[in-house]
Amino acid sequence: MLSSDVDEAVRRTLAARGYTPANTLFGHSVCSDEVNAKAEQLVNLMVSRWGEGFTLGGLGGLPFAGKSGFRAYLHHAPDSGKLLIMFAPHVGIDSEGRVGALQREGQSALSKACGAALGAYKAIQSKGGAGKYKESAVKDLNARNEVKASDYKFDPELGSIINLLTPRLKGVELAPEPITFVTYQMYTIVRDLLDNCFTERSPKAGSLPLPLALLPAISLPSHHGEPAPSSPYPYRSPPPTPSPEPIPNPHPKLHRARRTYGNGSPRCRSWAAS
Ligand SMILES: [Zn+2]
Repeated sequence: MLSSDVDEAVRRTLAARGYTPANTLFGHSVCSDEVNAKAEQLVNLMVSRWGEGFTLGGLGGLPFAGKSGFRAYLHHAPDSGKLLIMFAPHVGIDSEGRVGALQREGQSALSKACGAALGAYKAIQSKGGAGKYKESAVKDLNARNEVKASDYKFDPELGSIINLLTPRLKGVELAPEPITFVTYQMYTIVRDLLDNCFTERSPKAGSLPLPLALLPAISLPSHHGEPAPSSPYPYRSPPPTPSPEPIPNPHPKLHRARRTYGNGSPRCRSWAAS
């Protein structure tokens, strides 16, 4: 889907449920990469649509604002208002179809995206061996810019991604393209971290204090100002214990999910946009 179509579908779907720019605080968790900040990208379209946006994300799209950031986001929402959060790891695809490659404007050489996800995978590879973690189609891009393992202590966000990604790579050797596998695992990491924030803020009251709409997606780059595509994903509650998950096909329709807490297991609901 084009990001502009996703933005309009979200507006239409949520307007029917009482979400307006006046009563809704939009939050987003996307990678710091400037490709996500272009005017045609989903996050900017939604910030314009909803009037403002609370930044939860850092490298890789992980919500590095943490529980303190999420608490602040909750406290900044209008009284009796509503919450809308979009989270979207991103990945480049070049003209030859190589997943993880990106042609940035003003550069002749190809670049990587998401550089944080690919850098983390490369670091894990260097420790675990190429035999265990297969090579990607973009392994040779920008090799000179890679961070040395000894630098991670001054690189807390990348270090966190490496720690969280490592246990989720079981089965990567079976994937046709490891970066596709890695990108989906980045999605699950962001989803689980956000879910942790939701659970933390609602253990006693039984639910979050305000209605929450979630928009999960994978963000794809635009080329030369063309409309940017986004791939909304169906939301699935995290498994009770971390375990490898199969890679689902991107769903073509917009899904909204709302979790309800308390009285046993959380429930997950989703519906497609009309
Ligand atoms: Zn990135």
